[in-house]
Amino acid sequence: MLNNKIHQIKEKVKSLEKELKGVFENIDKTVDYNQEKILEAFVKEKIGEHHLYGTTGYGHDDLGRDALEKVFSDIFKAENALVRPHFASGTHALACVLFGILRPQDTLLAITGEPYDTLHEVIGIKGKGHGSLKDFGINYQQIDLSEDGSVNIDKLKDYINKNTKLAFIQRSRGYSWRHSISVKDLKKIILQVKSIKNNIICFVDNCYGEFTEIQEPLEIGADIIAGSLIKNPGGGIVPFGGYIAGKDDLVEKAACRLYAPGIGNKGGATGNFLRTAFQGLFMSPKLVGEAIKGCVLVAKVFESQGYVVSPKSDETRTDIIQAIRFDDKNLLKAFCKGVQKASPVNSYLEPIPSGVPGYEDEVIMAGGTFIEGSTSELSADGPLRPPYAIYWQGGLSYSHCKLGLYSALSELQKIGAVLF
Ligand SMILES: *Cc1c(COP(=O)(O)O)cnc(C)c1O
Repeated sequence: MLNNKIHQIKEKVKSLEKELKGVFENIDKTVDYNQEKILEAFVKEKIGEHHLYGTTGYGHDDLGRDALEKVFSDIFKAENALVRPHFASGTHALACVLFGILRPQDTLLAITGEPYDTLHEVIGIKGKGHGSLKDFGINYQQIDLSEDGSVNIDKLKDYINKNTKLAFIQRSRGYSWRHSISVKDLKKIILQVKSIKNNIICFVDNCYGEFTEIQEPLEIGADIIAGSLIKNPGGGIVPFGGYIAGKDDLVEKAACRLYAPGIGNKGGATGNFLRTAFQGLFMSPKLVGEAIKGCVLVAKVFESQGYVVSPKSDETRTDIIQAIRFDDKNLLKAFCKGVQKASPVNSYLEPIPSGVPGYEDEVIMAGGTFIEGSTSELSADGPLRPPYAIYWQGGLSYSHCKLGLYSALSELQKIGAVLF
């Protein structure tokens, strides 16, 4: 009986998949382009076997680390980059940029609405605020997104003043029901910011955005970007760390914050981080392509069932997240249960909602990943708050994404939430 139902689900998904040929061809084109861009950087910097081994102790004269950062700089068109295992997470990399650059009396202006959850305590708008930006006398202002989810470019002139030092722009949707921002739109936004006040530092939270398009934010006017290595640029295999890339003086300031003034980017041993970091970066475009195909298929299937999805299956993408709106806690739970069952690690566990450090609401997470919490591997999660949306992300292979989808559909079917 159950096998029969799974068979039905697979057949239905297969027939919908056939309609996605054109979309998938475009995804492949982006993968090809980015793979070539990355290979060119490896060749240009003459990456050799000697670069794959790291240092110990102070980490002075770390050839491999310097070469890795040159490769990142080439790919992201940056003057300099900091690619380190010492970043605890993407949030930590983002926080190093903010604390490295901002000084008391400065204003941080978030122009893409409320930043990602984990940044709220960093800014000081939530939590105890110990050592937050606010605690150090740095002001915060925010321009909310408009009703349709677009950036309120018209409001920029009302907010930007002499204290506005840094404009914060989040490229990906994160855990909010909003659109991710394409590189083309980022360009428009940054141009507008700079036309009002030329020396505002435009900082893009690039998490989840890397290699989803053929251009990256620094190419179109951003000054500095940061992200996590357990997302896109880690290729699914880098076990920890983060990166920052951009203007030389700004990257140096962030390095002084990560380590200490005087150490800057000259210290920080890499242990056995480098080989995986190079390899993960090299594999990244393909991983991103596979994950995006998974997202597109999920969108297509749930559209066919009448659910509201974002982005839609035929929309162009600039991150590796697919949101589905369930408006019901139970559907969220069933979906996660299904994804967990189809995970290579911890398939036998059932996800239950719980608190997560840095997040305000309880979150339910399905993620049987090799690297803890890695969202470049297939995972699905969502905060327990309306509209009870699930955020599906990552996937090491498109084939695995399909298995996760079948399993989620099967759980939903058990509670009567999908019709086929
Ligand atoms: C993942 C993410 C971050 C950082 O999160 P970590 O879990 O700390 O790596 C920040 N912003 C966005 C949009 C993200 O997706």
